[in-house]
Amino acid sequence: MFQFDTSYARLPHPFYTRVSPAQVPKPELITFNSDLARQLGAQDTNQSDTQLAEIFSGQRLLPGSEPIAMAYAGHQFGNFVPQLGDGRALLLGEVVGPAGHRFDIQLKGSGRTPFSRNGDGKAPLGPVLREYIVSEALHHLGMPTTRSLAAVKTGETVRRETPLPGAILTRVASSHIRIGTFEYFAFKQDVDNLKRLTEYSIQRHYPEIQNDPQADLHFFRNVGQTQVELVTGWMALGFIHGVMNTDNMSIAGESIDFGPCAFMDQFRFDQVFSSIDQFGRYNYSNQAQITLWNLSRFGNCLLLLHQDISEDELRKWNQELEALQDLFEHRHTIKMLEKLGIFDYERPNDRELIQKWLRYLEAEHLDYTLSFRALAPLVDQEAGWGAFKKTEAFQEFYNLWQERLHQQDLEVTAIQERMNQVNPVFIPRNHKIEEVIEAGRRGDFSPFHEMNEVLQTPFHEQEGRSSYRAAPRPEEMVQATFC
Ligand code: AMP
Ligand code: MG
Ligand code: MG
Repeated sequence: MFQFDTSYARLPHPFYTRVSPAQVPKPELITFNSDLARQLGAQDTNQSDTQLAEIFSGQRLLPGSEPIAMAYAGHQFGNFVPQLGDGRALLLGEVVGPAGHRFDIQLKGSGRTPFSRNGDGKAPLGPVLREYIVSEALHHLGMPTTRSLAAVKTGETVRRETPLPGAILTRVASSHIRIGTFEYFAFKQDVDNLKRLTEYSIQRHYPEIQNDPQADLHFFRNVGQTQVELVTGWMALGFIHGVMNTDNMSIAGESIDFGPCAFMDQFRFDQVFSSIDQFGRYNYSNQAQITLWNLSRFGNCLLLLHQDISEDELRKWNQELEALQDLFEHRHTIKMLEKLGIFDYERPNDRELIQKWLRYLEAEHLDYTLSFRALAPLVDQEAGWGAFKKTEAFQEFYNLWQERLHQQDLEVTAIQERMNQVNPVFIPRNHKIEEVIEAGRRGDFSPFHEMNEVLQTPFHEQEGRSSYRAAPRPEEMVQATFC
């Protein structure tokens, strides 16, 4: 299947601990993502389900695999925790794909590690199915994200508030290095290993800057820019990560660690789903500020490598952070404009136009995804207002919007086509995920497979799939998500 390589496991011992995956009573394959396996260069992917279940539950190790639990720290809801680490995950190793890119292959839910603290190291079936669906959906929606290679039932019962079936997810990432990995060494004032981690990360993710005399500053900028692209992309899709702790922010700029995440149905600026986010720190709109906050934590770690820094030099780092804030606002505006059919450049009143639209959606409790999708036909003035309620707020938005649409030199049909490439028809809706999980607990995975299939082409209308397209009825609406 894979020939593993292990560059991270060649770093010194404080970076990780070697651990073997736990034995599980009865591994059973739920799904194997053979498309992804082939993209990773896997050989002989048509093994039996039994063999695949053994491999992707860690019962059988592939050649070159040296499982490790990675060490990291992190700010959880603003509070620093000096040691978190992989408490329920193991890095099996890395594979180098046909295009020369290196990927981590990790098991999640594979048992206790020295970082487990009071946890059992296991994962219930529900979160495994949720992460599988959401990460693959984000990928097909065009977002940078960790991917899902396999899901396996373990045959074990996992104890949460109620007993639940256990499962293991195999995920693929450009790496699992987090802002929290830097915080781990920074907190210990371990400058040697911090330097090693920085060099390793630059070489792995941003090799083009490795010989730059200001490599660290450029590394900070690059990580910042990928974070900005990531989070503005989430916001354009109405996605709320839910736990943007620094240990859940990948320096490769991928969406990672899907806990109580959710796509919004009805639009609200301060929407929260996560059952553990009591004060709304990670609500929809706050994701912007939190990105910058997390990046400033990251910058502080890198500055430890420059202890005798001059004031002039320090100013450069601060300017870099300010530039990232401006970049965030700009990229957010551009992405929202595209969703409104405006593809030229940001003009002075554009942010107000976006706000008017979003305030209208919020006031009318409208579905975020379907409302954007319903706008494309209205680019054509002949179409009138479609199904939108004829309120004063809509009238005001509509007039400004039409005026702005016609300031660009694009045909109506060209605008509509491009809007349909950024405004999806299908998102992984919370109530459908709940249905899939419910069925999975009963042993029926056909809704899981069907939902994954629908979400492979989220920008295209699909015959007979209206239940995945529709907004939830009031009684179906999910109010809170759990990890
Ligand atoms: P999260 O916020 O879910 O990404 O997890 C935060 C930390 O808690 C990480 O160090 C995880 O490895 C750890 N953790 C979460 N759930 C478990 C579990 N069931 N057993 C052991 N450690 C866990
Ligand atoms: Mg995490
Ligand atoms: Mg500014």
